[in-house]
Amino acid sequence: SAGPADMSPETWEKVKNHPCYSEEAHHHYARMHVAVAPACNIQCNYCNRKYDCANESRPGVVSEKLTPEQAAKKVIAVASTIPQMTVLGIAGPGDPLANPEKTFKTFELISKTAPDIKLCLSTNGLTLPDHVDTIESFNVDHVTITINMVDPDVGAKIYPWIYFNNKRYKGREAAQILSERQLQGLEMLTSRGILTKINSVMIPGINDEHLLEVNRAVKSRGAFLHNIMPLISAPEHGTVFGLNGQRGPTAQELKALQDNCEEGQMNMMRHCRQCRADAVGLLGEDRSAEFTTESVMAMD
Ligand code: SF4
Ligand code: SF4
Repeated sequence: SAGPADMSPETWEKVKNHPCYSEEAHHHYARMHVAVAPACNIQCNYCNRKYDCANESRPGVVSEKLTPEQAAKKVIAVASTIPQMTVLGIAGPGDPLANPEKTFKTFELISKTAPDIKLCLSTNGLTLPDHVDTIESFNVDHVTITINMVDPDVGAKIYPWIYFNNKRYKGREAAQILSERQLQGLEMLTSRGILTKINSVMIPGINDEHLLEVNRAVKSRGAFLHNIMPLISAPEHGTVFGLNGQRGPTAQELKALQDNCEEGQMNMMRHCRQCRADAVGLLGEDRSAEFTTESVMAMD
């Protein structure tokens, strides 16, 4: 079909089969994640490293880590069982671009064995500007950046440290570097026609009011979609916020913020289900148990 009137045919081509980028597509097309990227280069206060990256997946879940070779094999196995599987995403369990060798090796193997599958990745953005050329060379059409602030004073409350150019930075300085790199990466991606989704974690009392400013900042830099997710704060995750009793937003608070952003004419994602980093299937459906590493490696 031709797609919505306000969308160019090129953009529609990139959106129509991607369950995360199209509300309509998420009923018909599936995506899978492979957990090939264990390391991370920043610390978010809501993250416990025992679990998967909480920026693009459900907190408190531990995925089975795969090598790029295992991941490529699993993709073939899933694609031959679930024909609606159109998208392969790398979202963790750490930051995909803090593990560039593993992430891009996986893309290389899959682009050879399953060239029809669209490649997708999510990142905290710290090293994104260094990898935009490689991302483009693998024809990646979709990148997600988690942006929780554009003000380093807010950022200092969310990120205790970052590790950048072989050095650890803390506090306001860390947040400033992270924010500059995120926005630079966003501009580089959109200038090359790569659709970019922004995830923001809504943390009451920390960045809830500030996220309207984040929304304007990412919209003006060409972000395609903004996905504001509620902080899921559970003491058993052992996060700093969790230990301090930081609550997540109510459903009403979340909706009010999403509505406010939409008034600024930004496409808001409302169908996010905060999936597992090793999720397989339609959004909101999880068939990962059918595809354990053991069972996939036994297939031929
Ligand atoms: Fe955790 Fe992801 Fe933040 Fe890294 S970027 S600290 S893995 S939530
Ligand atoms: Fe969807 Fe994000 Fe996974 Fe891409 S990385 S398939 S946008 S959840």
